[in-house]
Amino acid sequence: MAINIIKEKCIGCGQCFSVCPADAFEFEPYDGNKLGKVAKINAKCTFCNQCLTACKFGAIEEKKIEVQADLGDYKHVWVYAEQRNGKLMNVALELIGEGYRLAKEISDDTEVCAVLIGAEEDIAPLANECFEYGAEKVYKIASPLLKNYTTDGYTFAMKEAIDQYKPEIILYGATHIGRDFAPRIAARCNTGLTADCTRLDVRVSSYIDYAKKNTTLDTSTLDPNDTSTGIKQTRPAFGGNLMATIICPRTRPQMSTVRPGVMQKREPVKGATGEIVEVKTAVSADDIHITLKDVVKSAKELVSLTDADIICSGGRGLGDASGFELIKKFADKVGGVVGSSRAAVDAGWIDHSHQVGQTGTTVKPKIYFACGISGAIQHLAGMQTSDIIVAINKDPDAPIFEVADYGIVGDLYKVIPEIIDEWDNAEELYDASTK
Ligand SMILES: Cc1cc2nc3c(=O)[nH]c(=O)nc-3n(C[C@H](O)[C@H](O)[C@H](O)COP(=O)(O)OP(=O)(O)OC[C@H]3O[C@@H](n4cnc5c(N)ncnc54)[C@H](O)[C@@H]3O)c2cc1C
Repeated sequence: MAINIIKEKCIGCGQCFSVCPADAFEFEPYDGNKLGKVAKINAKCTFCNQCLTACKFGAIEEKKIEVQADLGDYKHVWVYAEQRNGKLMNVALELIGEGYRLAKEISDDTEVCAVLIGAEEDIAPLANECFEYGAEKVYKIASPLLKNYTTDGYTFAMKEAIDQYKPEIILYGATHIGRDFAPRIAARCNTGLTADCTRLDVRVSSYIDYAKKNTTLDTSTLDPNDTSTGIKQTRPAFGGNLMATIICPRTRPQMSTVRPGVMQKREPVKGATGEIVEVKTAVSADDIHITLKDVVKSAKELVSLTDADIICSGGRGLGDASGFELIKKFADKVGGVVGSSRAAVDAGWIDHSHQVGQTGTTVKPKIYFACGISGAIQHLAGMQTSDIIVAINKDPDAPIFEVADYGIVGDLYKVIPEIIDEWDNAEELYDASTK
């Protein structure tokens, strides 16, 4: 999309200036009207289109432009290394791992690069962590104006870096910030974005293997020897009932947001280093239309499901809200955190921050206890890659048992207290059972 001024119709009245929220209009001299000037649009335009209807002379039009990027100009995989208050989000490290894998599948000389945006004092110490988890290069965009995330400020800075260094792929975590940031960049760059991906492939052959195992797609038309290296971005759609694979063949960068907890971190290599590129940004206070007044942390108990090694989740089988007291007791005993199904959240028994699943958090703990949870596909989408799944359900036919490593058929109100009682003896019992 582009906004175009039809000079012959513009009378230089400046009406469009007053409706533009981005301050994107200027005058330029023109000798074809009485005032001797016409409006001109600068790079601040956000394509909001408010000026189209404001111009009474029909002098502003929206133009569709066929974009065909010179694909060869773009190289390397970037990961937006999201940080908050000088702490990297876990998903950034997961994406560096995934980005590394994709980069090497594209070619040996394709690099995975982390992009750090923020205040110098917050981001400078993070570059080494990015290197240790696999980044080969770190782009650092530092400014006091970028201390806290703002859509305007970060988009401005990232767009400058993209224009200068032309990455082929950019991955963002599908966090609240990533989901806000990536679409704004995509619109600015006139490129494609696939949201909430759970799988990425470069090689057609590995995509075919995946599709054969996990979908009903007819793969006979796909050539396993195809050498194209565009990414195939797969994401669940229609409530998880359909897996959609989306490609971005004509524009660059190819961009995806990826769910936290889905991709694998690399084993960190202590002391690993790489190149740091300081990117100068021209961002100014005028470019940021948001005033951050305060950052308020939720007064509710903080739940860190993504980082938990053990999760004890309760579902509708608890019967009522008080059932979560038992789940909390269970979690405290085994050193875990409390999760839940959406049914329990919808019933008002527990806050949404505990919800695991497609519309909640994706988790990958060492042990996931599913208590009174049936195993609907939308719940499984958020926990089925857990290392060990233990299901407690009174219905032996509940679908949760299909993904469970250990299943206990029984009333959770009888089973969980027994586990709590026996937990301290667990090691002894295990030793005895394996002798
Ligand atoms: C677009 C969309 C997105 C969704 N996103 C999510 C999501 O992110 N997360 C999510 O969880 N759901 C999600 N859902 C909802 C999902 O489809 C299911 O409705 C939900 O997961 C069911 O929750 P549940 O297993 O707790 O309840 P139920 O399906 O009602 O299962 C309760 C289970 O408890 C067992 N039970 C009952 N009493 C006991 C007892 N005393 N002891 C032991 N077992 C007992 C029953 O046998 C049953 O299997 C989504 C749905 C849609 C359409």
